[in-house]
Amino acid sequence: MRTIPKDKVIFSFNRKNPHAYFVENGETFWVEVDDCYSGQISSEKVLRPQIDISIMDCSVGPIGVAGAQSGDVLCVEVLDIQFAPQGVMVTSPKLGILGDRITEPDTKIIPIKDSFALFSPDISLPLTPMIGVMGVAPREGDIHCAIPGDHGSNMDTTIITTGSRVYLPVAVPGAGLAVGDLHACMGDGELSGTGIETAGKICVKTTVIKQGFTSRPMVETADSIYTIASDGSFNAAVRAASEDAVNFLMRKKALDFPDAYRLLSAACDIQISQLVNDAVTVRVRAPKKNLGIESIL
Ligand code: CA
Ligand code: ZN
Repeated sequence: MRTIPKDKVIFSFNRKNPHAYFVENGETFWVEVDDCYSGQISSEKVLRPQIDISIMDCSVGPIGVAGAQSGDVLCVEVLDIQFAPQGVMVTSPKLGILGDRITEPDTKIIPIKDSFALFSPDISLPLTPMIGVMGVAPREGDIHCAIPGDHGSNMDTTIITTGSRVYLPVAVPGAGLAVGDLHACMGDGELSGTGIETAGKICVKTTVIKQGFTSRPMVETADSIYTIASDGSFNAAVRAASEDAVNFLMRKKALDFPDAYRLLSAACDIQISQLVNDAVTVRVRAPKKNLGIESIL
């Protein structure tokens, strides 16, 4: 199995970015990634205001997937996530929901050992591995890797983890997949503005689906289907994720809009992915068993 090294990265998603790597349709491969600071924070002496934030969340790729065409959907199945032996969490004035209470920036290095993040002598957090940035080339624009959108990117969504299938709408031949921003732990919302930011590698399988069933990211896990939407306005993000969920229910269960809308309210949950990026990210969870749905397709 091949490993894609982390030396070719993008700083923004753009349909004009040439592919740096190529994989086959259906190929399984590893991708090495730096942490979201490109390793700039190597010790507790390095503070967030001192680093170059223009390169934050830079992502390995673009990876061209053979056979992907505009209008297809790319399925990225996450098979494994492995971490470097330490992660980092910064605080900094204005960072996160309560950043106004931070007066001095501060960096904490957090060792990672035996499936735990060793936060302090008496707090060992079980790892909750997740991929912060996963996206494809957008239909238009030059979108910095820190900003999530319909093309995916910095969605900071806890369910993008081992065992999940992430579905992304393809806008260019080859799709232009790029990934980065691993978190050893993160809670929904990413409230202080960062997860436990950790370098590492991820194992994924990329499959092209010749059926343009979504124009925004969706995720399937063992028990749920999720629609994901990002927007500068929280309400607009909720609306977009709800629209996608209703459309999915109408298609999958052959329902008219009123019944799909009822089911959205009776059986599905709105959940927050992150509230701290330039656009917020939310998701609607549709439980497969309760709705009698076997799979996304
Ligand atoms: Ca992130
Ligand atoms: Zn991150």
